[in-house]
Amino acid sequence: MKRRDFIRVAGVGALATGGLAACKDKTADKGAGAPAVMRQQTIRWKMVTTWPKNFPGLGTGAEKLARLITEMSGGRIEVKVYGAKELVPAFEVFDVVSRGTAQMGHGSAYYWKGKNAAFQFFSAVPFGFTADEQNAWLFHGGGMELWEEAYAPFGVVPLAAGNTGVQMAGWFNREINSLEDLKGLKMRIPGLGGEVLKRAGGTPVNLPGGELFTSLQSGVIDATEWVGPYNDLAFGLYKAARYYYYPGWHEPGTTLEAIVNKQAFEALPADLQAIVRAACRVANDEILVEYVARNNDALEKLKKEHHVDVRRLPDDVLARLRTLSEEVVQELAESSEQARRIYESFSRFRDKVFAWTDISERAYLDSRQG
Ligand code: CA
Repeated sequence: MKRRDFIRVAGVGALATGGLAACKDKTADKGAGAPAVMRQQTIRWKMVTTWPKNFPGLGTGAEKLARLITEMSGGRIEVKVYGAKELVPAFEVFDVVSRGTAQMGHGSAYYWKGKNAAFQFFSAVPFGFTADEQNAWLFHGGGMELWEEAYAPFGVVPLAAGNTGVQMAGWFNREINSLEDLKGLKMRIPGLGGEVLKRAGGTPVNLPGGELFTSLQSGVIDATEWVGPYNDLAFGLYKAARYYYYPGWHEPGTTLEAIVNKQAFEALPADLQAIVRAACRVANDEILVEYVARNNDALEKLKKEHHVDVRRLPDDVLARLRTLSEEVVQELAESSEQARRIYESFSRFRDKVFAWTDISERAYLDSRQG
């Protein structure tokens, strides 16, 4: 083969991995057998999740994401979704994706705080960002880059792929009238919120969603938070607790993540990488708006059909939790050089975005009350 021809064929080969252009180029047939693109095989990925299979909003959100990747890629990637325990238990999702046994996962970063406490910034910070603010920080405030850096040593690529919006404070069988009522409380509450509860005298427990109802009903835990009306109704938590408190101070806009094994991601041609990223961006928005839509109906159902006692946490309890949260986040910031840099980015963005939210969303919401 002449050197020039070889370069042309090699060039087409490179193109074929990135798109369909090679199909029409006759040079692809020369010397290299069938055009590379014709031999292209469907890429089959497994997506392990921390959610029960098809759980409303979360499991179904992961399924939608998988379908979207297949549709957008014209069938070049097929993603099979596994619920918690189908392939691995919920809290092993990160390890399995890190090892490459599954190429993809769906969960939330605070579940992996044992790997690196700084991961928690990428789920939710108590009294931190709302969904809009969190997305603004991730995509326009440097958050995504820091997140990628934090997961890189584990061979995992993070992508924001869902947000719950403001959650509920949780389900209790005793009234919360003062801080005293949190003392001795054994409550399922993950992430930094759990650490705050501990300082308020409670005992935080981390359990995957699928175990909440039984644990609460059998008294293994006294209280639990999960997400909000839509998800909490689906688990039937109202059958196991009497009081439903708000607001979700501990999770004001929790990011759900898609994680991809780095090697698997980098093996994709550039267009498929862009498709996976774009599909996650769609899921990031779709899951949030689904929550906004479904929480309304579910809240009404909980109140009217199931006669749930919906209550606001007292101001002084919230104020104390806020002070404790600041301590917890400050200590997290001091725990490592990386945590400090993430905290600095987070807090710099927070100062500015809170000032803006104050005169936009908050001022508007206040005015809407009339
Ligand atoms: Ca939660």
